[in-house]
Amino acid sequence: MALAVLQGVRKTYRMGDEDVHALDGVDLTLERDELAAILGPSGSGKSTLMHILGFMDQPTAGRILFEGEDVSHLPPDRRAWYRSHRVGFVFQSFNLLPRLTVVENVALPLLYREDAGGEAAREARAREALDRVGMGHRLGHRPTELSGGERQRVAIARAIVGRPSLILADEPTGNLDTRNIDRVLALLAELRREGIAVLLVTHDLAVAEHASRVITMRAGRIQEDRRR
Ligand code: ADP
Ligand code: MG
Repeated sequence: MALAVLQGVRKTYRMGDEDVHALDGVDLTLERDELAAILGPSGSGKSTLMHILGFMDQPTAGRILFEGEDVSHLPPDRRAWYRSHRVGFVFQSFNLLPRLTVVENVALPLLYREDAGGEAAREARAREALDRVGMGHRLGHRPTELSGGERQRVAIARAIVGRPSLILADEPTGNLDTRNIDRVLALLAELRREGIAVLLVTHDLAVAEHASRVITMRAGRIQEDRRR
Protein backbone atom coordinates (compact mmCIF):
# COMPACT_ATOMS: atom_id res chain seq x y z
CA MET A 1 0.00 0.00 0.00
CA ALA A 2 1.30 3.45 -0.89
CA LEU A 3 2.05 5.84 1.95
CA ALA A 4 -0.02 8.66 0.46
CA VAL A 5 -2.22 9.12 -2.58
CA LEU A 6 -3.39 12.53 -3.76
CA GLN A 7 -6.13 12.73 -6.36
CA GLY A 8 -7.11 16.00 -7.98
CA VAL A 9 -5.98 17.99 -4.95
CA ARG A 10 -6.68 21.71 -5.08
CA LYS A 11 -5.94 24.49 -2.66
CA THR A 12 -7.46 27.85 -3.41
CA TYR A 13 -6.87 31.00 -1.39
CA ARG A 14 -9.21 33.94 -1.66
CA MET A 15 -7.17 37.17 -1.83
CA GLY A 16 -9.48 40.19 -1.95
CA ASP A 17 -11.75 39.36 -4.87
CA GLU A 18 -9.26 37.10 -6.59
CA ASP A 19 -8.73 33.32 -6.22
CA VAL A 20 -5.16 32.09 -5.96
CA HIS A 21 -4.82 28.46 -7.03
CA ALA A 22 -1.86 27.38 -4.92
CA LEU A 23 -2.55 23.76 -5.94
CA ASP A 24 -4.46 23.35 -9.15
CA GLY A 25 -5.19 19.62 -9.46
CA VAL A 26 -2.33 17.53 -8.07
CA ASP A 27 -2.22 13.76 -8.56
CA LEU A 28 0.61 12.08 -6.69
CA THR A 29 1.35 8.70 -5.17
CA LEU A 30 4.09 8.61 -2.58
CA GLU A 31 5.62 5.26 -1.73
CA ARG A 32 7.19 4.39 1.62
CA ASP A 33 10.69 3.93 0.27
CA GLU A 34 11.13 7.19 -1.59
CA LEU A 35 13.37 10.18 -1.19
CA ALA A 36 11.54 12.60 -3.45
CA ALA A 37 12.82 16.05 -4.28
CA ILE A 38 10.38 18.79 -5.25
CA LEU A 39 11.67 21.48 -7.55
CA GLY A 40 9.85 24.46 -8.97
CA PRO A 41 9.87 28.25 -9.07
CA SER A 42 8.80 30.36 -6.13
CA GLY A 43 5.01 30.40 -5.82
CA SER A 44 4.50 27.10 -7.66
CA GLY A 45 2.83 25.43 -4.67
CA LYS A 46 5.69 23.44 -3.12
CA SER A 47 5.12 24.59 0.45
CA THR A 48 1.35 24.31 0.11
CA LEU A 49 1.78 20.69 -0.97
CA MET A 50 4.04 20.02 2.03
CA HIS A 51 1.55 21.65 4.42
CA ILE A 52 -1.28 19.54 3.10
CA LEU A 53 0.74 16.32 3.23
CA GLY A 54 1.82 17.28 6.75
CA PHE A 55 -1.74 17.74 8.01
CA MET A 56 -1.10 21.42 8.65
CA ASP A 57 -3.75 22.41 6.15
CA GLN A 58 -6.66 20.88 4.26
CA PRO A 59 -7.34 20.78 0.54
CA THR A 60 -10.12 22.87 -0.98
CA ALA A 61 -11.02 19.94 -3.24
CA GLY A 62 -9.75 16.49 -4.11
CA ARG A 63 -9.01 13.33 -2.19
CA ILE A 64 -6.09 12.28 0.00
CA LEU A 65 -5.44 8.77 1.26
CA PHE A 66 -2.79 8.32 3.93
CA GLU A 67 -1.81 4.76 4.81
CA GLY A 68 -5.04 3.73 3.11
CA GLU A 69 -7.28 6.04 5.18
CA ASP A 70 -9.24 8.85 3.58
CA VAL A 71 -7.86 11.95 5.32
CA SER A 72 -9.25 14.54 2.89
CA HIS A 73 -11.38 16.20 5.56
CA LEU A 74 -10.47 15.57 9.16
CA PRO A 75 -11.48 17.44 12.30
CA PRO A 76 -8.62 19.38 13.93
CA ASP A 77 -7.94 16.78 16.64
CA ARG A 78 -7.49 14.00 14.07
CA ARG A 79 -5.17 16.23 12.03
CA ALA A 80 -3.17 16.90 15.17
CA TRP A 81 -2.97 13.15 15.78
CA TYR A 82 -1.50 12.54 12.31
CA ARG A 83 0.92 15.44 12.72
CA SER A 84 2.33 14.10 15.97
CA HIS A 85 2.31 10.38 15.10
CA ARG A 86 3.07 10.20 11.42
CA VAL A 87 4.99 13.26 10.25
CA GLY A 88 8.29 14.95 11.04
CA PHE A 89 9.16 18.44 9.80
CA VAL A 90 12.56 19.91 8.94
CA PHE A 91 12.89 23.60 8.03
CA GLN A 92 15.54 25.72 6.34
CA SER A 93 15.91 27.86 9.47
CA PHE A 94 15.97 24.83 11.84
CA ASN A 95 13.24 26.32 14.12
CA LEU A 96 14.88 25.16 17.35
CA LEU A 97 13.83 26.91 20.56
CA PRO A 98 16.83 28.93 21.79
CA ARG A 99 16.05 28.67 25.51
CA LEU A 100 15.81 24.90 25.50
CA THR A 101 18.78 22.53 25.44
CA VAL A 102 19.35 20.21 22.52
CA VAL A 103 17.80 17.23 24.28
CA GLU A 104 14.80 19.32 25.42
CA ASN A 105 14.22 20.54 21.86
CA VAL A 106 14.23 17.00 20.53
CA ALA A 107 11.95 15.68 23.29
CA LEU A 108 9.41 18.46 22.72
CA PRO A 109 7.21 16.78 20.05
CA LEU A 110 6.70 13.86 22.43
CA LEU A 111 4.81 16.16 24.80
CA TYR A 112 1.88 15.91 22.39
CA ARG A 113 1.96 12.13 22.50
CA GLU A 114 -0.16 10.17 24.90
CA ASP A 115 2.10 7.13 24.43
CA ALA A 116 5.53 8.66 25.08
CA GLY A 117 5.71 8.11 28.85
CA GLY A 118 7.02 10.54 31.43
CA GLU A 119 9.88 13.02 31.22
CA ALA A 120 12.59 10.39 31.68
CA ALA A 121 11.17 8.19 28.93
CA ARG A 122 10.84 11.17 26.58
CA GLU A 123 14.44 12.21 27.26
CA ALA A 124 15.66 8.68 26.65
CA ARG A 125 14.00 8.67 23.24
CA ALA A 126 15.41 12.11 22.47
CA ARG A 127 18.92 10.89 23.36
CA GLU A 128 18.45 7.88 21.10
CA ALA A 129 17.36 10.12 18.20
CA LEU A 130 20.35 12.42 18.81
CA ASP A 131 22.72 9.44 18.79
CA ARG A 132 21.34 8.46 15.39
CA VAL A 133 22.23 11.83 13.88
CA GLY A 134 25.64 11.94 15.55
CA MET A 135 24.69 14.62 18.08
CA GLY A 136 24.62 12.50 21.23
CA HIS A 137 27.59 14.45 22.63
CA ARG A 138 25.78 17.81 22.64
CA LEU A 139 22.73 17.06 24.79
CA GLY A 140 23.06 19.99 27.18
CA HIS A 141 24.08 22.62 24.63
CA ARG A 142 21.79 25.41 23.51
CA PRO A 143 21.10 25.75 19.76
CA THR A 144 23.11 29.01 19.63
CA GLU A 145 26.20 27.06 20.72
CA LEU A 146 26.01 24.84 17.63
CA SER A 147 27.00 25.28 13.98
CA GLY A 148 24.32 25.38 11.27
CA GLY A 149 25.02 21.79 10.26
CA GLU A 150 24.77 20.64 13.87
CA ARG A 151 21.51 22.53 14.32
CA GLN A 152 20.01 20.86 11.29
CA ARG A 153 21.04 17.44 12.61
CA VAL A 154 19.30 18.28 15.90
CA ALA A 155 16.23 19.33 13.90
CA ILE A 156 16.32 15.98 12.08
CA ALA A 157 16.51 14.21 15.44
CA ARG A 158 13.42 16.19 16.50
CA ALA A 159 11.68 15.14 13.27
CA ILE A 160 12.36 11.41 13.82
CA VAL A 161 11.85 11.20 17.58
CA GLY A 162 8.16 10.36 17.09
CA ARG A 163 9.02 7.55 14.60
CA PRO A 164 7.10 9.11 11.69
CA SER A 165 6.36 7.45 8.38
CA LEU A 166 7.01 10.70 6.48
CA ILE A 167 9.63 13.44 6.78
CA LEU A 168 8.77 16.76 5.15
CA ALA A 169 11.80 18.95 4.64
CA ASP A 170 11.38 22.44 3.16
CA GLU A 171 14.79 23.62 1.85
CA PRO A 172 16.65 21.77 4.65
CA THR A 173 20.05 22.46 3.11
CA GLY A 174 19.38 26.10 2.19
CA ASN A 175 21.51 27.49 5.04
CA LEU A 176 24.32 24.93 4.98
CA ASP A 177 27.78 24.68 3.43
CA THR A 178 28.70 21.83 1.07
CA ARG A 179 30.11 19.52 3.71
CA ASN A 180 27.02 19.85 5.90
CA ILE A 181 24.70 19.53 2.91
CA ASP A 182 26.32 16.15 2.20
CA ARG A 183 25.93 15.09 5.81
CA VAL A 184 22.24 16.06 5.96
CA LEU A 185 21.54 14.32 2.64
CA ALA A 186 23.31 11.17 3.85
CA LEU A 187 21.10 11.20 6.95
CA LEU A 188 17.93 11.62 4.91
CA ALA A 189 19.02 8.78 2.61
CA GLU A 190 19.57 6.59 5.66
CA LEU A 191 16.06 7.35 6.95
CA ARG A 192 14.68 6.41 3.58
CA ARG A 193 16.48 3.06 3.73
CA GLU A 194 14.85 2.49 7.09
CA GLY A 195 11.43 2.93 5.49
CA ILE A 196 10.67 6.57 6.24
CA ALA A 197 9.52 8.40 3.11
CA VAL A 198 11.28 11.74 2.65
CA LEU A 199 9.87 14.66 0.67
CA LEU A 200 12.37 17.42 0.20
CA VAL A 201 11.86 20.84 -1.35
CA THR A 202 15.01 22.27 -2.87
CA HIS A 203 16.25 24.85 -5.36
CA ASP A 204 19.55 23.06 -5.63
CA LEU A 205 19.87 20.65 -8.56
CA ALA A 206 22.88 19.02 -6.88
CA VAL A 207 20.65 18.20 -3.90
CA ALA A 208 17.94 16.80 -6.18
CA GLU A 209 20.60 14.50 -7.66
CA HIS A 210 20.49 12.54 -4.39
CA ALA A 211 16.77 11.85 -4.65
CA SER A 212 15.17 8.67 -5.99
CA ARG A 213 12.47 10.76 -7.60
CA VAL A 214 12.35 14.34 -8.83
CA ILE A 215 9.00 16.13 -9.00
CA THR A 216 8.85 19.50 -10.72
CA MET A 217 5.97 21.84 -9.92
CA ARG A 218 4.73 24.76 -11.91
CA ALA A 219 1.74 27.01 -11.22
CA GLY A 220 0.15 24.60 -8.75
CA ARG A 221 0.58 21.50 -10.86
CA ILE A 222 3.08 18.71 -11.29
CA GLN A 223 4.86 19.45 -14.51
CA GLU A 224 7.29 16.56 -14.45
CA ASP A 225 7.68 13.47 -12.26
CA ARG A 226 10.77 11.39 -12.83
CA ARG A 227 11.87 8.26 -10.95
CA ARG A 228 15.40 6.96 -11.22
P1 ADP B 1 6.24 27.82 -3.10
O1 ADP B 1 6.50 27.12 -1.80
O2 ADP B 1 6.44 26.94 -4.30
O3 ADP B 1 7.04 29.08 -3.22
P2 ADP B 1 3.60 28.32 -2.00
O4 ADP B 1 3.00 26.98 -1.84
O5 ADP B 1 4.14 28.96 -0.79
O6 ADP B 1 4.72 28.23 -3.15
O7 ADP B 1 2.54 29.30 -2.64
C1 ADP B 1 1.79 28.99 -3.81
C2 ADP B 1 0.88 30.17 -4.14
O8 ADP B 1 -0.13 30.29 -3.14
C3 ADP B 1 1.57 31.52 -4.17
O9 ADP B 1 0.97 32.29 -5.17
C4 ADP B 1 1.30 32.09 -2.81
O10 ADP B 1 1.29 33.49 -2.83
C5 ADP B 1 -0.09 31.54 -2.52
N1 ADP B 1 -0.30 31.33 -1.07
C6 ADP B 1 0.37 30.45 -0.28
N2 ADP B 1 -0.09 30.48 0.97
C7 ADP B 1 -1.07 31.42 0.99
C8 ADP B 1 -1.96 31.93 2.00
N3 ADP B 1 -1.92 31.47 3.26
N4 ADP B 1 -2.85 32.88 1.63
C9 ADP B 1 -2.90 33.33 0.38
N5 ADP B 1 -2.11 32.89 -0.63
C10 ADP B 1 -1.21 31.95 -0.33
MG1 MG C 1 7.89 27.54 -0.27
